[in-house]
Amino acid sequence: MTQIINPATLNVIAEPRETPIEAIEAIVARAQRAQRTWVRLPQSHRIDALRRVAVAVRSNLEDLALLETANVGKPIGDSRGEVGMVADTFDYYAGAVDKYYGNTIPVDGGLDFTVREPIGVVAVIAPWNFPLAIASWNIAPALACGNAVIVKPAEMTPLSILKFEEIIREVDLPDGLFQVVTGRGSVVGQALTEHPGVGKISFTGSTETGQTVMRTAAGTMKRLTLELGGKSASVVFADADLALAAQASTGAVFGNSGQDCCARSRVLVERSAYDDFVALFSEATGRLVVGDPMNEGTSMGPLVSAAHLAKVGSFLDGSLNILSPAANQEAPGHWMAPHIVLDPPRDHRVVREEIFGPIVAILPFDTEEDAIALANDTIFGLSGSVWTRDIGRSLRVARGMETGSISVNSSTSVRIQAPFGGFKQSGMGRELGMAAMDGYTETKNIFISTAI
Ligand code: NAD
Repeated sequence: MTQIINPATLNVIAEPRETPIEAIEAIVARAQRAQRTWVRLPQSHRIDALRRVAVAVRSNLEDLALLETANVGKPIGDSRGEVGMVADTFDYYAGAVDKYYGNTIPVDGGLDFTVREPIGVVAVIAPWNFPLAIASWNIAPALACGNAVIVKPAEMTPLSILKFEEIIREVDLPDGLFQVVTGRGSVVGQALTEHPGVGKISFTGSTETGQTVMRTAAGTMKRLTLELGGKSASVVFADADLALAAQASTGAVFGNSGQDCCARSRVLVERSAYDDFVALFSEATGRLVVGDPMNEGTSMGPLVSAAHLAKVGSFLDGSLNILSPAANQEAPGHWMAPHIVLDPPRDHRVVREEIFGPIVAILPFDTEEDAIALANDTIFGLSGSVWTRDIGRSLRVARGMETGSISVNSSTSVRIQAPFGGFKQSGMGRELGMAAMDGYTETKNIFISTAI
């Protein structure tokens, strides 16, 4: 039994059982049988089933959102938005089923073409910061491509995924096509990663655990999608709309209380605009409301756990020049108000490591080259923003930044229709868009001789 705790109230809200390790064998075998049925069904059946998942999610949107907020501590409006995105993701991949195909290849002596085959059984190992949304980015394309799926949510946040499993029982999926296992990553997650009947792992989590998963998966040569940590930067030039950049950059780091792989925890500002930008950023931060995530007006809930709060707090040492313009919430939850660190040394932990909490470092730069070099001075490469009115510069900087996605004059990172994933140690493979379909299929080449 794991105690699931509401991080805003510290009440125990559930005590789910850990899936016994001995059960994994039967779970994988069931998934394999279901997959063989699923892939032989007419594609219209698969399309219809995925659309019905979307409908079931929409009709249970409020229940799922309330669970996500109670479990993770995220503001209720954000939870509603995420559950809505889950439904939209299933609709998108329902539409993708009959729009994804291979190539014909010019060769001598016959017809050569490729078809895309499902991998088989896919295990989705999910993180705690966007539990259902990120799982859905993998479940939907995996099913669309004809695979079976086993999901392992993070230990602390299984509730929305367990509820999702319950509500999609009304959709007529083959028995065992979609299963959820719960428990510790090092036990249950590891067992899935080792199992020869699992063909692919879609892992979202820290870079360190991603490395462990990659090593273990090598034993059976599993296919992998790894969505890992980040240390993204917003680069703000003096010619930008500074008020808009400051407002958006506040949301880009303090959204989800900073527990976001795409969090722009570094803001790099052209030196001539540094003081003006800091004033605007501080003003926008001061308007954030830290408090009860069930209240509509709340912008930031608590951090997910006491251990995580302590880890995030460890970044703030006495050597730093820190502003904290928003009021914190009273105990008992794991509250942390936003913190702005002004011009820290470039080798400080706050500049170099993923924080995953409401702390931002604002650093000045002098030239375009300096900005690009500073943005790229990290082992990560997930996301980022460029703020400028100069279109040529926006393109030069966007192309120069070593990162999987970048927004110009915007702080968004994720769109269902567009590929999402990391450069460098932020991961490999792409989620979302049609690119995700490549990650859930093998390419088969067929040659038909015309010689006889
Ligand atoms: P984590 O690495 O601690 O855990 C992620 C998942 O892996 C959990 O389900 C956990 O139970 C499981 N796990 C742990 N050990 C395992 C093992 N040995 N074998 C198999 N599975 C194992 O990460 P977290 O703390 O849940 O999430 C936070 C991290 O996730 C941050 O670093 C964040 O940047 C990253 N993240 C990345 C993305 C992205 O899309 N790039 C999105 C969200 C979060």
